[in-house]
Amino acid sequence: MVDRLTQNELQASLAGALNRSNILIRRFDGTIEYWTRGCERLYGWTEAEALGRKSHELLKTKFTEPFEKIQKHLLENGSWQGDLPQQHKDGRWLLISTEWALLPGENGDLPRVISTHNDISSRLQMERELDASNQRLRQMAEELERSNEELEEFARIASHDLSAPITTARWLTDLLASRHAQQLDQEGMTCLRQISSSLERMSDLIDAVLAHALAGKGAIAAQQETDAGEALSAAMENLRKDIATSGAVIESAPLPKLFIRPQALNQLFQNLLSNAIKYRQPNVPPRVEISAVEDGIQWMIEVRDNGVGIEPEWFERIFLPLQRRHGSRVKGSGIGLATCKKIVTRAGGDIWVESQLGVGSSFYFSLPAGQKPE
Ligand code: ADP
Repeated sequence: MVDRLTQNELQASLAGALNRSNILIRRFDGTIEYWTRGCERLYGWTEAEALGRKSHELLKTKFTEPFEKIQKHLLENGSWQGDLPQQHKDGRWLLISTEWALLPGENGDLPRVISTHNDISSRLQMERELDASNQRLRQMAEELERSNEELEEFARIASHDLSAPITTARWLTDLLASRHAQQLDQEGMTCLRQISSSLERMSDLIDAVLAHALAGKGAIAAQQETDAGEALSAAMENLRKDIATSGAVIESAPLPKLFIRPQALNQLFQNLLSNAIKYRQPNVPPRVEISAVEDGIQWMIEVRDNGVGIEPEWFERIFLPLQRRHGSRVKGSGIGLATCKKIVTRAGGDIWVESQLGVGSSFYFSLPAGQKPE
């Protein structure tokens, strides 16, 4: 008795659960024979309205493949599943994830189809919104890329066109100093020297702007690897004069190959080394040590100096264009580190500094890992 009751209760709760779920049974021709309360809630049609109607007419199902093909698949495999747009009674379109299974027919009847229906419209909506925002992001990236290119082109042309009059002015001041020095008094000579050094600074600034503009041209990340040791040697060669006059000692551990264009890596080392020499402590020969560590994904290169150091509040600012902690006391454009940042970021890495005033600075940059040093 207890067992029978329990079985009755079990059947009742199963029937309840079945009624709550979104299930319908239809004849093979589509006529609805069984329509749960779950379906009423999902589609808005009551059982009385749905029974006897053809399911795909009632729900205005839009098939994503030919209906005959689906029926064939169903007969051959006994089941079919897919996502179908269907309409609610109130006219809203829903995206329904549905699974169909065949119920064998009795006495040679065609089989019936039992199907479950899950509303995935909100997922679809989210996917649509995600697609739309991805599309917007792509457009913004393209616009940014275009305006960057225009800005770089503008900087390139402007700095090129500015160079010519400055070269002429420098040539004329040199001429004035060499041929007409006798006609100038002390004050005149001082003015001439100041004009000359201003022109030199302007010329350096234009070179730096040009280098910064060109650092963005084309893809920096290279398919082939660049030997960082060779890039460092090239940078040292370009700084030969500064190294010799300052008595700088530059030591490097074996360096890896990195995924970056050689010119970009040369420039990176050249800017960092030239700063290490420029911002040295008075009466202390600059000492620069370069080393590399790998974490499996990227290499981190350290360029450590024994220079004057930098206050923490400048750690981020110095990587912005035209930010100079040392003002006009030391020659420079304030663009070198911004160019380094541009190069490294474009190559998929990062650059930062750690420093202690009066002790020295360590500039670190990371780049995607190439080969280990030999
Ligand atoms: P520039 O050297 O032409 O001024 P940078 O962009 O290369 O421009 O550097 C920005 C500022 O960062 C410099 O003006 C200097 O104050 C500081 N700086 C850069 N490198 C060092 C260094 N190795 N040691 C101390 N200060 C540095």
